[in-house]
Amino acid sequence: MKRSFFGLAKPRFAYDSPDSVLTPERIPTPKKATIYYNRPYRRTDALLIKPGDAVKTGQKLSVYADDPGYAISPVTGAVAYVSAYQGDFGAACTAIHFDVAETEEIDDAFARAAGEATLETLKDYLAHIPGNPPLEALGEDFHPRAIVINAMDPDLLVLTNQQVARRNAALLTKGVSILKSIAHGAPVVVAMPKSLSRAAGGIGGASGAEARLIDDAYPAGLPVFVLKEVLGEVVPAGKTPLDIGVAVFTAEAVAGIAKAFETKQIPVTKTLTLIKKDLSQTMVEARIGTPLKDIFAICGVTLEDRDRIIIGGPMTGATIYSDEYPVGPDTDAVMAQDSGDVSLVSDQPCTNCGECVRICPANIAVNMLVRFCEARQYETAADEYDLRSCVECGLCTFVCPSRIPIFQYLRLAKYELNRLEEEMDKTAVEAETSAEETEETAEGTDA
Ligand code: SF4
Ligand code: SF4
Repeated sequence: MKRSFFGLAKPRFAYDSPDSVLTPERIPTPKKATIYYNRPYRRTDALLIKPGDAVKTGQKLSVYADDPGYAISPVTGAVAYVSAYQGDFGAACTAIHFDVAETEEIDDAFARAAGEATLETLKDYLAHIPGNPPLEALGEDFHPRAIVINAMDPDLLVLTNQQVARRNAALLTKGVSILKSIAHGAPVVVAMPKSLSRAAGGIGGASGAEARLIDDAYPAGLPVFVLKEVLGEVVPAGKTPLDIGVAVFTAEAVAGIAKAFETKQIPVTKTLTLIKKDLSQTMVEARIGTPLKDIFAICGVTLEDRDRIIIGGPMTGATIYSDEYPVGPDTDAVMAQDSGDVSLVSDQPCTNCGECVRICPANIAVNMLVRFCEARQYETAADEYDLRSCVECGLCTFVCPSRIPIFQYLRLAKYELNRLEEEMDKTAVEAETSAEETEETAEGTDA
C-alpha cells in the first residue's frame, strides 16, 4: 500500500507483477483426490456414480440421472465414495472422492471429439478445466457482444494468470484464435497488465485480437473494471458481464482450451500461487483434486494451531478449516497466514471516519450500508444504499480503523438477499400454479 503525502488522497494498492517467469513447483499426483461438483448431494437412486467405479483421467462423469451437467475425473483409479460438502454460506455441493491408481490412463472421448473446436465441443468437455471458463453459462446459440480475456489476477499477491500468460504466449495466441472462431465476429480483447506489454503486442498481432494494457493498481483486474477499461462498458449493479453479453475468460482458461485441442487431452493440472507466511510467492502446478496438505508439505509450509488457510488472495479470499481441502479448477491462490498476522475483527462501533467511503471504487456510502447489513436489514441496504453496486473488492475492510468486517457483512447480505428473492419467486410460482389448479377444478365441476 502506498499512502499519499497529502492525507486526503486515497492509498494505492499495486498488484505484484514480476517481470520474469517463475519456475513452478510440480506436485506429484496425489494418492487420494477429491472434486466438488456444484450440485446438492442427494442420496437417491439418481446418483449415477458408485464406490468402486473405475475412472480414467479426463473422463466425463455424469453425476445425477436428471442433471445434464458433468464433472471431469482428474485422475485414474476408482471412485472411493460420494458425500455432501458445504461450501461458502452453506452452499450445498457433492464431493466425489477418488482412490488414485499407480498407472495413469487417459480417457479418449475428448480426443475423438476434438477434430474441430466448436462451441458445442468446448461446452461438452472443457467447462471444468483449470481457470474455470464460463462455458456452462453460455447458451447453445451463443452470440456475444464481445469476449474479453483477462490476464490480470483477481487479487493482490496472486500471480497465476500473469505467469500463465508470460509462460504460454503461443498457447494463449492459439486459444484466442479458437475463441474468435466461436465469437460470430464479435470483438475479442486481451487485457494484460502493463508488465506484459511486450507479450500483449505479440499475442494481439498473431491472433488478430485487440490487446489492451490495464492499470496495475488494485482493483483494476476485477472483471467489472476490466470491462470498463477495455470496452468502456459499465456492468449494471447486481449484474455480471455475461448478463450484458460479454464473456470473460481468464488467461489460464484460454491457454487450457488451446492445450486441450493441441494435445487432444482435457487439462487437469492447475497453476496456482502459494502465498507463504512471509508473503513470498511460489508458483505451483498441482493436479486438480490434490489436498492442500500435499502442497504445503512439498513447499515447506508448516501450519501451527490458530494459523489460517485462505483460498484466494488477501483482499477477497475466504478462510477454510482443513488442509484436506482440494485444489479446484478456480483455485488461483492459497495463502498460509501465521496466527500472529491474523487481523482480528472487533465489535467496536463505526466512528464515521469515512475511510471506507473514500476508498470504495464503486462510490458507495459504505458507512451507512454496513449499518443496515449489520442489522440484517438487507432489503433497505439494497434499495437505499446500493448494496448490489458493491464489486466485492474488500478495500473497505482493509482500511477500516474500527476493524469492522465490512466486506464479509456485504457478501453475507447479498447471499441472504438472493436467497430471500429465490424463495419469494418460488412461493409466487407455487401460488400461481395452485390458483390455476383451483380454477381448472372449478371449471371441471361447472362442466
Ligand atoms: S467491498 Fe467495500 S470498497 Fe469494495 S466495492 Fe464493496 S463496499 Fe466498496
Ligand atoms: S472505515 Fe470503518 S469506522 Fe470508518 S466510516 Fe467506514 S465503517 Fe465506519
